Amino acid sequence: MPLEYPLVLKHLREKAFKPGIEAYLSLEGYQVYRRFLEASAESLKQAMRTAGLRECGTGVLVADIWDRAPQKPILVINAHVSEPGNFKDRTLLRDPHQMIEGALIAAHAVGAEQIYFYVRSDWTAEIKLLEAAIEDARAYCFVGKLEGGGGCEACVYVGGGAAICGETFGVEAAIVGCRPVPSMMGHPSVVIHSVETVCQVKHVLSVAHETLTRVFAVGGGVQRPGCYEFPCGSLTLGELIYDVAGGLVPGRKLRGVFPCGVFSKCVAAEALFALGPRQVSLYDLPMDFDTWPQLGLSMGRGSVIVIDDAVNVRSIIVNLMRFFATEICGFCVPCREGSRWLHQMLERIQRGEGRPSDVELMLSLTDQMRGRVACPFGEFMADSVHSLVTLFREDLKTT
Ligand code: SF4
Repeated sequence: MPLEYPLVLKHLREKAFKPGIEAYLSLEGYQVYRRFLEASAESLKQAMRTAGLRECGTGVLVADIWDRAPQKPILVINAHVSEPGNFKDRTLLRDPHQMIEGALIAAHAVGAEQIYFYVRSDWTAEIKLLEAAIEDARAYCFVGKLEGGGGCEACVYVGGGAAICGETFGVEAAIVGCRPVPSMMGHPSVVIHSVETVCQVKHVLSVAHETLTRVFAVGGGVQRPGCYEFPCGSLTLGELIYDVAGGLVPGRKLRGVFPCGVFSKCVAAEALFALGPRQVSLYDLPMDFDTWPQLGLSMGRGSVIVIDDAVNVRSIIVNLMRFFATEICGFCVPCREGSRWLHQMLERIQRGEGRPSDVELMLSLTDQMRGRVACPFGEFMADSVHSLVTLFREDLKTT
């Protein structure tokens, strides 16, 4: 069984864990920030390049993001991700000072004077915890402008739920009070990091750092759902599902897996992949950043959803489509109208009023979205729904 290596999850795992600043300071909290506050932004960027941390959603090197940052950007921490099956960000928000420290370090590197923690409005407990943590960090002078110049302000921005706000133009528009839509022109003045990425920052820059880790949220039909942290690439999908998360409930059969979360394809349990000269089963694929893009998938945000034969697949697809249809911004017609049609069709099928042509129509609709939408969310939605309808077409057919 692969060995877990909890860095980001370490304190959350402790029975006596407390989210307050005194507890965090007693565990050498804010030490890495203090150390790098006295260093230049350039040396901080160089240290990050040496550490090799990658943005957890895209796999882009954090050092590259920092190098390409606009002048005096706004730093946004995207705690707005709540696709079905991904509970990782919400878990990490319960250790708010780890995230605040990482965000302050990132702000120093890119020259940001303002950090927005962009959090979903329905995460009320986490919002309260984070607001209190920011005020505590302010009381200790970690947050806020410094007398001699420098320092960084931070606040929580409560978002209403739109996937486009995970994209630079969208979140920038939302923060200034405009309708969040993608922009085809200009340059954003925002740098975005995910929650996990900023939580990793202090660990990869600490003196004792040796290993890059990744947090995975495993859910669905496994016996031990939860968040687990491992060195990058140290385990396979099969080990994560069966050895770490306990595998399926005895007697149940695996039907499909979202190995990279619902913003990517659902894959059949028996799928084989060509990896160089080898044919590799789904279970043998390493959980790293580089393998999955070769297979037309992305590592996404590190959530794995297991679908066994005990669940009602129609309900899963309808629930997912409801999420997609409410998250779109409505900017482009194929995504706006396509998601509405798909949602209506799936609800009709769920009510037992499906038509023989529905499956082919849904596949055609998702095909027509691909390449005709303005942001990655539309592509992700098309991929996700297309894969589900293809994989579970018999469950969707009306007899
Ligand atoms: S693809 Fe969808 S979410 Fe993205 S810009 Fe178009 S309508 Fe908005």
